[in-house]
Amino acid sequence: MRRDRGWVGLAVVVLGLVLIPVLWELTNFPVFVFVFASGILFWVAQATSWNILSGYSGYFSFGQGAFYGVGVYTMAVFFGRHGWNWLLVVALGGLLAMLFGLGIGAIAFRLRSLKGEIFALLTLAFPFILAAIVRLSNTIDGGQGIVIPVPPLPELMAPFQRFYFLISAAVALLAIVVSYLLPRNRYGWALFAIRDDETVAEGFGVPTFFHKMVAIGANGLIGGMSGAVVALNLGFVSVEGTFTLRVPLFVIVMSVLGGRNHWAGPLVGAIYIHTLQNRLADAGFDGWSLIVLGVVLVVLMLAAPEGLMSRFAVRPWLIVGVLATVIGGLALWNGWGEPVDWLAAGLVAAALVAFLPASRRKTPARTSRAGGLGESAVPEERSEVSMTTASRPLVVATDVKKDFGGVHALRGVSMTVGEGELLGLVGPNGSGKTTLVNLISGSFTPSSGSITVDGVDVASLRPHQIAHLGIARTYQIPRPFASLSVRDNVAVAIMFGSDPRTLSESRQAAAEYLTMVGLTQLADAYPAQVNLHERQLLEIARAMATRPAVLLLDEALAGLNPVEIDNAVAVVRRIHGSGVSIVLVEHLLRVVNQLATRLVVLDQGRQLAEGEPGQVMRDPAVVTAYLGRGQHAAGD
Ligand code: ADP
Ligand code: MG
Repeated sequence: MRRDRGWVGLAVVVLGLVLIPVLWELTNFPVFVFVFASGILFWVAQATSWNILSGYSGYFSFGQGAFYGVGVYTMAVFFGRHGWNWLLVVALGGLLAMLFGLGIGAIAFRLRSLKGEIFALLTLAFPFILAAIVRLSNTIDGGQGIVIPVPPLPELMAPFQRFYFLISAAVALLAIVVSYLLPRNRYGWALFAIRDDETVAEGFGVPTFFHKMVAIGANGLIGGMSGAVVALNLGFVSVEGTFTLRVPLFVIVMSVLGGRNHWAGPLVGAIYIHTLQNRLADAGFDGWSLIVLGVVLVVLMLAAPEGLMSRFAVRPWLIVGVLATVIGGLALWNGWGEPVDWLAAGLVAAALVAFLPASRRKTPARTSRAGGLGESAVPEERSEVSMTTASRPLVVATDVKKDFGGVHALRGVSMTVGEGELLGLVGPNGSGKTTLVNLISGSFTPSSGSITVDGVDVASLRPHQIAHLGIARTYQIPRPFASLSVRDNVAVAIMFGSDPRTLSESRQAAAEYLTMVGLTQLADAYPAQVNLHERQLLEIARAMATRPAVLLLDEALAGLNPVEIDNAVAVVRRIHGSGVSIVLVEHLLRVVNQLATRLVVLDQGRQLAEGEPGQVMRDPAVVTAYLGRGQHAAGD
């Protein structure tokens, strides 16, 4: 695990914010620098707040213009028209935009289908609706526009540009601090898990709806406050000038350019784009700026699709050094351009240096295969194999049916999983096994029939609540969180288990589960770097990390070679030995026979047989189902 040095970057940002007014005092540099810096700060706040929702959680939004617009018009109406205290109105603007965001979220996030493009399009509609309301309502604007006077300045803060810089800096800093803290606590990790695979996240106990609401609320709050602040500098606002696509498009471009996975990505993007735009305008190329921006974006996206920040992070001190040297050198020489030119030159130099070929960043080495247990640590013979029906029932499915349109995936299955049991759920492909797993874990709801977990009917529960009742499952095709390391995949499951832990506690505790499945050596690898067997072991480790009472293993042994199967079987035995009930889903009877204490056989959605393995294997119906179709010989 690498030490977290993000705080150094945060310190650099804060230092920069402090340095500008101090330099102003010392050197009395032109007012224009303050105006320019405030412009950057505005975009930093907008882009960073956008990134909290759209970058971290992956819910791509075009709605930033709505939050911005709510902020602008709150200031225009309450301060411009009614003369309320401006500071109060900044807070009010944030609050109203936050409520607006929560309103959008309450609609969009309730419906699981509203993802991807559909969500983006939905958010695109809101600024248009708002614009129409503002234009039509005479109590708001009425189409005339609103004049916003210069606020009464506290003595210390005069002139206005310094005052405006300071409040812009305060809002930008709020955005940065929130964006910085999120990846360092559970809220941010919930968003990352949602971005990678929302269904899986929910299944591992992440209350996804709540966390998406937090993200869109923070997005709205900061976007609205920033809009309210910028309105103070505008003097006059109109519907046409406010509800354009400028804000939503620019925040997207800035965040993508800077990098959406890093708290400082939108900040870097905002600095680059605002400076570039400013220099183009200054050179008389205003009309060209969108073309130039477009080209720069395309080039950078091809060169660094992860964003500039990912490049900078490789050699941060070199970048800071180049930036400081170029800006400082030009300032001392003072023979060319003005301060913003120096900054622009520094930024170009930094970007060039970032793209110099570097020794590739080390990826975690694959030092060993997943194995390493299998031999001794596993209790070979389980003595207490007598729990057939006597043990306490943990999962009870009663006459469960599930239809997908015309497909009857399950046609009335009843099954119990007792405490401490290792139940084999077998059946040919398409017989409904995965559907049953999905129903028990809450991914689907039954068409009819009931399922209880530890006596609680799960019909009305969301998957994360069922997870907290003690159900964990793996996926037939592993679905790891792709952007998180092996260790962090497990840590997320611990963080959101029924006994919630902090990020650092969870990371520490993850080691135990990685050892359990023999993945310790791959802790720092990413899922794409490990093989199928190891990914399946990761699925098991992640499921175990929720500390389940019942573990549903959906074909955890499928596609493995004999050595890997032996290893996986040892892992399953070991987990069972620790007291967890297991439902082992398999289409190969041979494998299940070695392990299960009881079998349930499904065929075409019906329950074909149930009972002790030896007896089930001799059942004529089972023999026909398996041998009759000539697939996957039942015995050996
Ligand atoms: P198994 O896991 O035993 O191979 P499944 O539970 O995946 O079987 O599938 C049982 C039947 O239900 C199959 O006919 C499959 O096509 C259908 N099915 C499963 N999931 C869905 C779904 N989400 N939508 C439509 N049909 C589905
Ligand atoms: Mg299946």
